[in-house]
Amino acid sequence: MNLRVPGPTPVPPAALRAGSSQMIDHRGPEFAELLNRVTAQLKRIFVTRNDVLLLTGSGTGGLEAAVVNTLSPGDRVLSVSTGVFGDRFAAIARAYGAEVVPLSFACGEAADPARVAETLAREPGIRAVLLTHNETSTGVTNDLQALCRVAQEAGALTLVDAVSSLGALPLPVDEWGCDVVVTASQKAWMAPPGLVMVSVSERAWQAHGEAKMPRFYWDFSAAKRYLARGQTPWTPAVSVLYALAESLTMMEDEGLWAVIARHQRVADHLRARLKGLGLRLFPRDEARASNTVTAVEVPAGVEAGELLRALREDYGVVLAGGQGQLAGKIMRVGHMGWVTEEDVDAVADALAVTLARLRDEGDN
Ligand SMILES: *Cc1c(COP(=O)(O)O)cnc(C)c1O
Repeated sequence: MNLRVPGPTPVPPAALRAGSSQMIDHRGPEFAELLNRVTAQLKRIFVTRNDVLLLTGSGTGGLEAAVVNTLSPGDRVLSVSTGVFGDRFAAIARAYGAEVVPLSFACGEAADPARVAETLAREPGIRAVLLTHNETSTGVTNDLQALCRVAQEAGALTLVDAVSSLGALPLPVDEWGCDVVVTASQKAWMAPPGLVMVSVSERAWQAHGEAKMPRFYWDFSAAKRYLARGQTPWTPAVSVLYALAESLTMMEDEGLWAVIARHQRVADHLRARLKGLGLRLFPRDEARASNTVTAVEVPAGVEAGELLRALREDYGVVLAGGQGQLAGKIMRVGHMGWVTEEDVDAVADALAVTLARLRDEGDN
């Protein structure tokens, strides 16, 4: 199978093997060594001196953790949304009683930092801004650095969904001043689903000290307290941690900037191939097209479900369809983590033959 959905992503054999290792005592010395080593590796890839916490759950759990650890019911937060995942972040904040000021951008567009700045100037007392670095539902990468800058200038905390970006796209957390950054093991990290990695800045810890939203499992204080003795408060996803330790070592062996450059190269290559097939990329501005997931329009006269089924059954190429209002209109190719030009060439080759066949059938 050429699994090319935007998560979970393929896991390299060495990480798969590591993940099948025997269990250990999660309160024992081997686990402490593993957790400390992985935490140090993560800090290098986040390019941060902030605390980095490992939580067991999926990316959405990490977004919930970011909200409940820094905010109180009634707090005003600005939700900068460019798609399904931005909307989800806002829904979580609303579920816990935040007063969400929505600022949504058209599907396929990037968030405009100037409009975010205007909104922050107009809306008093915004405590935090919810940001999506890479909007997986539309294949758009936002200008996170500029967005964080305007949020900071307004004195607001930045809570960042970097689930489908960190580990593949540049995101130097300290340099860009991101307060809470959330990512998950099954995206760019070449590991199975099950772990969330979150960085927490000094400002975020200060907010945490006053934050009154209910929390228990996701409590950052508990995670930090246990991390000091090489543990997690609750039983962690040990097998995923084994795999992640291996994949992080692979990433560091390749080099962070080489990993980022490979994602750029693979994405450029795929975009060129798709355009060569006469397909239209979905992001309105190609300069904002994501290097981890490519959204492309389903051509007129082709039924999306039929196309995806044929690719899977005939070529073992597994792509994702559109979500929400984009269902049936776009398809998405994941290319984050363990991916090379050959993997996306196989996608383009399968698409070329399948589209030609479906169009022929449509003509008859
Ligand atoms: C995958 C993803 C998530 C979280 O998804 P989970 O299924 O909860 O792991 C959140 N945000 C973005 C941008 C994502 O790509």
